[in-house]
Amino acid sequence: MTPDVRPLVAGNWKMNGTRASLDQIKAIAQGVRTPLSEKVEALICPPATLLYVATALATDSPLAIGAQDCHQTQSGAHTGDVSAEMIADCYGTYVIVGHSERRINHAETDHLVRAKAQAAYQADITAIICVGETADERDAYQTLDILKRQLSGSLPDEATAENTVIAYEPVWAIGTGLTPTAQDVEIVHAFIRDELVLRFGKEGRGMRILYGGSVKPSNASELLAVDNVDGALIGGASLKATDFLAIYGAYETLLA
Ligand code: PEP
Repeated sequence: MTPDVRPLVAGNWKMNGTRASLDQIKAIAQGVRTPLSEKVEALICPPATLLYVATALATDSPLAIGAQDCHQTQSGAHTGDVSAEMIADCYGTYVIVGHSERRINHAETDHLVRAKAQAAYQADITAIICVGETADERDAYQTLDILKRQLSGSLPDEATAENTVIAYEPVWAIGTGLTPTAQDVEIVHAFIRDELVLRFGKEGRGMRILYGGSVKPSNASELLAVDNVDGALIGGASLKATDFLAIYGAYETLLA
C-alpha cells in the first residue's frame, strides 16, 4: 500500500463472458456497495460486447466498468477495433493498454501502447498501462531493465496520478498459478515507484501501481499488503463474483 493512495481492485475478463455472465457483474456491483468502497475502488473490464450493458448494470453501484484495449485513433477504417471514444460513449471509465497478451499476440510495441494511453486521455478515460518481464527475461536477471524500458516507452509525458494506473504483471505469473514472493514484489514495485517519481515528481508519488498475475483469494492479503502495491489486476479469479469480492474484501482487514 502507499499512504494517501486509494487502492484499485480491477478485473480483466479477457475473451471470456457472454450475456449469461452478466449475473456476475450484477453480483459484484451489489457486493461492492459497502462502506469499503469509499476507500477502495473496484473495476471490471468485460469484453467489448458486454461493455454497454455492464455499465448500465453498475449505474447505482460504486463499481467502475472499463475496456481491455483501445485503438490509438478516434475513428476510421480499422476493422474490428474499438476506440477510446467508443468506450467513453458506453460509459466506460478505464481502459487496459499494453497487456502482455496484446504485446505478445498482437506485437504491440511500447510506442503503440503510449499512443493508446494518449487516446484514452483524449477520451477522458484512465489508462491502465501494463508492464512486466517474461520468464526468460527474469531468468536472465533483466527484470528491472525491461521495466525501465517499458515504463519509459509506454508512458506518455502527460501521465498523471488521475489519468494513469500502472499494472506490474510478470508474464510468467499470468494464468499459471505462480506468483513472485512478496519480497520480490516489494523490490519491483519500489523500483517502479522510483522511476515514476524521477520522471513525474509528485504525480508519480500518487500513481497507483497494481500487481497482477495469479492473484486469488488465498494470496490477496499477502500481496496487497506489500509497500507500493496499490491494488490488483485480476484475470481468472475476477470471473467469479465470490472470488473477486473475496480479494476486494481483503482490504477490510488491511485498512482496519
Ligand atoms: C491478467 O491477465 O491480467 C492476469 C493477471 O491474469 P491471472 O489473474 O489469471 O493470472
